[in-house]
Amino acid sequence: MSNLSIAVYFPFARFNVVSQNAHLDLKHPGTQIRLEPDRRCRPVCRDCGAAGRVHAWGRRRFIRDLNVGPAMTLLDVAQRRVWCPACCAAKVERLSFADVSQRITHRFAQYIYALCKVMTVQDVARHVELDPKTVKRVESKHSAKRTTTGCVCWRSTRSRCARG
Ligand SMILES: [Zn+2]
Repeated sequence: MSNLSIAVYFPFARFNVVSQNAHLDLKHPGTQIRLEPDRRCRPVCRDCGAAGRVHAWGRRRFIRDLNVGPAMTLLDVAQRRVWCPACCAAKVERLSFADVSQRITHRFAQYIYALCKVMTVQDVARHVELDPKTVKRVESKHSAKRTTTGCVCWRSTRSRCARG
């Protein structure tokens, strides 16, 4: 049995890689990475960041990530709802690697932003196989963030686990 693992390429807090499906024989190769919440960690409220408890297991969603080799990568993520004691309400769980309302990871957005510095939005959209409006939105968001904070770093998405 092999000890090889792809989990090191997906260092997301509070989630573990449980399986993958690679489709490398297609015209457009792709891979689906299934992530499950780490049950040792308490989920975190998306609004205030307080640790809560699982209120409901919601639907699953696909989030686009950086390609693995030639394969377009989709993360299959469980979207849980959290009962937040600070907000006194059920909120969607905060993900360390993607915004709740976005369908791309932070590091993929940073990759798009880096490409936008040297390529046109249309060329970037064609290269990453996304809608030009999505690429433009990412570019605008990161430009605004850079002017306010001075730095955009995907490594900051690996926040600490909220055990406790
Ligand atoms: Zn909250």
